[in-house]
This record gives sequence, structure tokens and C-alpha cells, in this order.
Amino acid sequence: MADSILLYNGTVLFHEGNKVKFLHNYDVLIQGSKISKIGQGLQLEFNGRMLDCSGKIISPGFIDTHHHLWQTQLKGRHGDEVLVDYMVSGMLQSFNYEPEDMFWGQLAGCIESIDSGVTTVVDHANLTYSPAHATEALRATASSGLRTIFCYGVMPRLKKWTSEFEMDTEIFPEWWHSTLETLAKSQPFGNGRVTLGFSFDMFKLPRDIITDIWTKCRNLGLKILTTHYSSPAMPNSIKMLSDYGLLDKDIIVSHANNISEEDARTLAKNDVYISSTPETELQFGPGDVVAFRDDIRSHASVGLDCHSTNSSDLLTQIRICLQHSRATVAGKVFQQEGKQPRELTIKLEEAFNLGTIQGARAVNMENQIGSIAEGKLADIIVFDTQSPAMVCAAEENPLAAVLLHSSVRDIETVIIDGIIRKENKQLCHVEILTEPNGNEKEKWSWSEVSRNLLDSRLRIKKRGEGQDYAVAKKTLFGTS
Ligand SMILES: [Zn+2]
Repeated sequence: MADSILLYNGTVLFHEGNKVKFLHNYDVLIQGSKISKIGQGLQLEFNGRMLDCSGKIISPGFIDTHHHLWQTQLKGRHGDEVLVDYMVSGMLQSFNYEPEDMFWGQLAGCIESIDSGVTTVVDHANLTYSPAHATEALRATASSGLRTIFCYGVMPRLKKWTSEFEMDTEIFPEWWHSTLETLAKSQPFGNGRVTLGFSFDMFKLPRDIITDIWTKCRNLGLKILTTHYSSPAMPNSIKMLSDYGLLDKDIIVSHANNISEEDARTLAKNDVYISSTPETELQFGPGDVVAFRDDIRSHASVGLDCHSTNSSDLLTQIRICLQHSRATVAGKVFQQEGKQPRELTIKLEEAFNLGTIQGARAVNMENQIGSIAEGKLADIIVFDTQSPAMVCAAEENPLAAVLLHSSVRDIETVIIDGIIRKENKQLCHVEILTEPNGNEKEKWSWSEVSRNLLDSRLRIKKRGEGQDYAVAKKTLFGTS
């Protein structure tokens, strides 16, 4: 049960619609899982914690709208790889994970997000090799403390991968359906923090199969359905979903690189948000991060994608998105007018919103998360502004301090659902649950989690020995 917490005398980044105001020397009172009051001179009405935020910045937690949280053990593999390499050395590696490995990979993925100030993640959980793979990942998610929409996935599975490579042609075995139904009935998990969604990328399947499964997920009460889209690397999921009558505001489309003007109009008309993931897009995709494109920006959010490829620090993603997009605009002005731009058309406020209130809109939770407001859930982070990076910047412009000067080391406190998950820049112990909706079994420190993770990584490497990547690429993409 969450206690009362009083964050006092900080600079609150306070939303009024899309405007971000700086409330200096303000307090935020948290009672249970919610923000009960914002004001000055507030008192704790019951016993609780008092956190002195003098000179510090109190910000809404960040919302990451696209991530594959299971991939922790694969970190470091992809630094010099292109998308085709990653598909084999990354995405398909779920074949080499046992359910126990899913647990550790997922748990560490969630913890890395929390450490970096992310309080909500849309998890594109393309890990469903068996019921236990899904439930162990879900148990880890619920244990971690992170707010998550766990999007149970349809995915290509392998049957055999040695020197030979064989795909499993049965996409929807009986267990896949029964697990989906069981999980849908048992949600939410983790005291309501973790809900079930759906992830799907197999648009080469026949129309009636796609329509049936998307309809089924909606009928089961899944709130968010997510899919990748990047032109020309993938089928045009936006057009297909629209043609099939399935496009609705419960969908998030990740990437949307090179999206056509017509598809952008279709998204806006249906109130569908995209998730830009700049770091993976700039490495793996055809580039062209579209979050700030004029016909997209009202329906954009930001995601992390693969923490096997880059860190889970969403601030870095927002920063890359902002500066890359500014460069794109400046390049166009040069081309068209032959001169330097006379103003920046993409402002800090809009970039901050991309990772906060826009993310909340993307997941249809604007009335619950994405800003610091009375009655909303207490998903809050506190920045230390006296660090070498942030000192002076926070006094001049708190948004500049957060977006351009801070890093994970400056995130001092992370609170999710009214519970402190990081304090004094240290991660708190994680309470491991017996099952996704179970009781607490034991408490683990990060160092204990990391030891298990390292063992798991070695097991995964071992299982992968002798697997021929070239034959996998040839089978999947017609190239080695
Ligand atoms: Zn992805």
C-alpha cells in the first residue's frame, strides 16, 4: 500500500493543456496512488514521507510508447548492425530464451526504464513462444513497479535453428488463444498498474484472419493495440487497417518513417498516434524521424524501441528527436531560401510534451497520467538541479535544464503509482511476485538482478551456438 508523500518546495513542471508553466517553491502531496494536492505550505495529513525538493525540478514521469522490454540480455550486439542483422541477432533471439530468461530480461528492462525516469511503457511483447514465456514476462513486469501496457504479441516463431532454419507455420496454436483469454480475464496486474494490450505485425496473413484476431482482442477488453510501420521496409499497416475497417484510436503505430501525406491524414482523422523512436530509426530505418512533421506532430509520441541497441533513457530519445527534426527543418529552409532559418519552429515545450502529455494521449490515459495534476496518478520524477550538468540551467529555464542538460544521473527520485522506486539516485529493492497477480515472494536488489541476468545471458549465448545467421537471413529476406 502506498504511503502519503509530500514533495515540498520544488519547481513543478505544471501543464495547462499543452502549455508548461513553472510553479516555483510549490509542493505536491501524494496520497495513496494519486496526487491529492498541488500548492504552497501543504502539510502531511497523516504519517508519511517528506521529501525536500528545494531547488529541484518536479516533473511528470516520462511515457515511452514503444519498447521491447525482454531484450536486455542482447545488449551490445547491434552497434554496427543494420535492420536485417538485428532481425536475426535480436528479434529472433526469443527462440533462445527459456521462460526464466524472459523473466530476467523483462525485469531488467523494466528496471532500466524506471532508473531513467520512465514511468509508463507500451511494451510490444513479441516474445510469445509459450504460455510460460508470456506469464513470466508479465510476472516480471508486475513485480518491477513500472506502469505498463503489456501488448501480448503475434509473432513469427521458429521450429528449428541449427545449421538449418525452419519457421513454425502455426501462427495461432491453441495455447496462444487460451493464454490470451486467460490473461485478458485476469487483468489488470500489479495493483492495476499493468494492463493487457495486443501487438501485431503479420500483415501478410489473409484479411479475415487479421480482422478476426483484432476484433477478438477488442472484445476481450484489450485497450491498446500496437503495430510497427516504416515505409518501405514493412507492409503499409495503416492503409490495411483502414481498408479493413479496424483503424481506431486504441491503436499506436510505431515509427511511421516516410509516412505518406494521405496516411498521415488517415491517422489524424481516426485519432491514432504514432511513436517515434529516433535512435533505432536513425540506425535501422530509412531515417526521417516524423514526430515533428507538420501533418503528424499533433498525433506524435516518443518511444525507445530496443534497449538492446541503445539505452532506455527516453530523455535522449526526445533530445535526438528534437535536434534531428530541427536540422531537417533548417535543411529545407536552406534549400528553398538559401539562408539560415530566422527562428526555431520546434520549441522545447513541444518536445517535453512528446514524452509526457502526448504519450498519455497516445495511450488514451490523458485523464490519469502525463502531467502533474490533482486527481491524476502519482507518476512523478525529481531532478537534482545542483549537478555539474544542471546547475545554472535549472534557474534560467527548467525545460532547457531537463531536455538539453540532464541525463539519467540527475534523476534523483522516481515515484510510480505513489510508490518510490528510486531515491537518492539509487534504485529501491524490487518485490518479486509469485505470479502476475500474486503476492510478494522476496525482495531483490539490483545487484542480485544483474547477477541472474549475466547467467541468463550466457545460457542464451550457449543455445545460439552453431545457429547459422546467413541461412536465417536468406530464408527471411532472400539475402545473406
Ligand atoms: Zn519495435
